[in-house]
Amino acid sequence: MLDLFHSLKKWLYPFPLPHALAITGAATALVVLLLIPDPLPTTGTDTPVVERVPVTLTAPLVTTAEDLVPAPEVPVTRISSEIVKAGDSLSKLFARQGLSPQLLFEVTSTETPKERISDLIVGQEVAFTYLDETLQQIQRQISPFQSVIASYQDGQWQHRVNIRDAEIYVETAEATINSSLFLAGARAGLPDSLIMELADIYGHLIDFVYEIRAGDQFRVTFEKRYLDGEFVEFGKILAAEFVNSGEHFLAFRYTDSEGDTGYYDERGVSLQKAFLRAPLNFRRISSNFDLKRKHPVLGTMRAHKGTDYAAATGTPIYAAGDGRISYRAKKGGYGNLVVIKHGNSVETRYAHLSKFGKYRVGDRVKQGQVIGYVGATGLASGPHLHYEFVVNGVHRNPRTVLDKLPKAKSLPPTELVAFQRVATTMLAALSPAAKDVELALQTITQ
Ligand SMILES: [Zn+2]
Repeated sequence: MLDLFHSLKKWLYPFPLPHALAITGAATALVVLLLIPDPLPTTGTDTPVVERVPVTLTAPLVTTAEDLVPAPEVPVTRISSEIVKAGDSLSKLFARQGLSPQLLFEVTSTETPKERISDLIVGQEVAFTYLDETLQQIQRQISPFQSVIASYQDGQWQHRVNIRDAEIYVETAEATINSSLFLAGARAGLPDSLIMELADIYGHLIDFVYEIRAGDQFRVTFEKRYLDGEFVEFGKILAAEFVNSGEHFLAFRYTDSEGDTGYYDERGVSLQKAFLRAPLNFRRISSNFDLKRKHPVLGTMRAHKGTDYAAATGTPIYAAGDGRISYRAKKGGYGNLVVIKHGNSVETRYAHLSKFGKYRVGDRVKQGQVIGYVGATGLASGPHLHYEFVVNGVHRNPRTVLDKLPKAKSLPPTELVAFQRVATTMLAALSPAAKDVELALQTITQ
């Protein structure tokens, strides 16, 4: 296996190696500091004072059966939960709970548009709390971290949103791809959703249908969100490295001073390029795609000037880049064909479509907008997308001409210092040394 960390060092551009190691060391020290728990509260004026109130014993010292008076009643709390079903409304939930329409009116009359207990969504849990069988509180759970609460206080129903902070831990996982990206992810304990996000981050650099090779590797640093010490969900991907056919691609998540978040390489160049590599939802084609199996051969390869993506009829096809639709009709063996012009030199073609998208000839389209659906019209042995990338009238492999295409957005010099600080910390987190270290970076509000 490749020693990724050694290759990573090379990528710590523009820091010379000794500096890189020093910075990595400093970042590791920071990690250690973060792991040290907060000091215990110091004694001082903040120490709570326990007040001792003298109690006069009024009960007789010797009790007899006649002296036994029932203890004051402790109110009985009962919670009854409902799961919102299709067609449910708060009034239906009230009816199921045996509560009156009058009470429903009282509860909802003080609602504000922002905090509505009555905006039910299917699948949500609504908990009714009773105190001595009198409704005291209704809590609608929006997410593990957020709920709307209506409670009876001071003679009226009050509404509020309850937000709980997640405890966020940062972890790094790595995997080598043997048969499929998703299987490799699963072996590393990563859910498909995180793998999809990873594929989206690299969707402009790597064609995940055709360019993934057995032996490709990835390493990813991501958030895990906990509540009361229990794992709830995976969070954002903070950094990643993908090794594709020996080529290393680093990605760092960065939010600039304008508040825009994106992924950038180690030089601060955006990974968001002018063109998508595979212009369709790769999940729809490759979740069952096994590298060890031969990809279905579609027709002959004779004079084949494009890439074929086998996919179910109806799979949405995206505009590979921003441009203008220049053709949208049947054309011989192409069947239903869409052509997009991107500036003067680049043209992309999408053939065999079963259906066109809503954009017509002359319309401007943005990257990722649906311009049609996979089909088998024209000369096609089965449903697939035939995709062509044409530069100055010549068919090209988009990867090999990547450098000649319009430049991706780079961070301006004013952002670079802040970006390099983030990238350096993340590179340390991404390194094998940090693999088993869980560090609480921050607690954020959901
Ligand atoms: Zn083809």
